[in-house]
Amino acid sequence: MNFVIPAPAVSSLGVAGSDSRFPVRRIYCIGRNYAEHAREMGAEAPRTQPMFFMKPADAVVTDGADVPYPSATQELHHELEMVVALARGGRDIAEADALACVFGYGVGLDLTRRDLQAAAKAKGHPWDAAKGFDHSAPVSALAPVSAVGHPQARRLTLEINGELRQQASTADMIFPVAAIIAELSKLWELAPGDLVFAGTPAGVGPLARGDHVRAELAGVAVLEARIR
Ligand code: MN
Repeated sequence: MNFVIPAPAVSSLGVAGSDSRFPVRRIYCIGRNYAEHAREMGAEAPRTQPMFFMKPADAVVTDGADVPYPSATQELHHELEMVVALARGGRDIAEADALACVFGYGVGLDLTRRDLQAAAKAKGHPWDAAKGFDHSAPVSALAPVSAVGHPQARRLTLEINGELRQQASTADMIFPVAAIIAELSKLWELAPGDLVFAGTPAGVGPLARGDHVRAELAGVAVLEARIR
């Protein structure tokens, strides 16, 4: 294939225990998937219908690289999240079949320009500038299901400069991984290479230039990065 300009690079994540990498196609995110976080944002926790948004694939920051403080915000927030990577996709995937689509798991930050998000919410505008900016998705290396299985009730923690700022059990997710995949597949045809950010627990807050972040999904993955 000849392209009229150089083809864009494929974003990818490292894979624990492998020299091969996981290519990223799309990044789906679920909002308000922990009741206490929904409350801290002044929102109702959803009961039947999850709320989704997306980030561009090239928003991923991998391999512990520094994260540049984004433009156009005075309020960059961290959201600690489990990340699910799909090896298979499809439409209208049944919950019972959903976990068979998973390649592996990692931990990431759904970085958010909270001031722009508040302005967008107030005006009924979309969240793209608040959520889908460049470098807005730092993610750890992935742990394959073949190595770690499907983690249930794992502890998620985020330390900033050594201080614990967010913690939860993934058992507290309102929509568990299989339900998220099933619901997403009603709206989009999922495909290999898709990532899913599974929602943040309570305790979101600001990041400053120079901060060191350490996110962990116990027994599965660790992400360390610095904001510059
Ligand atoms: Mn989030």
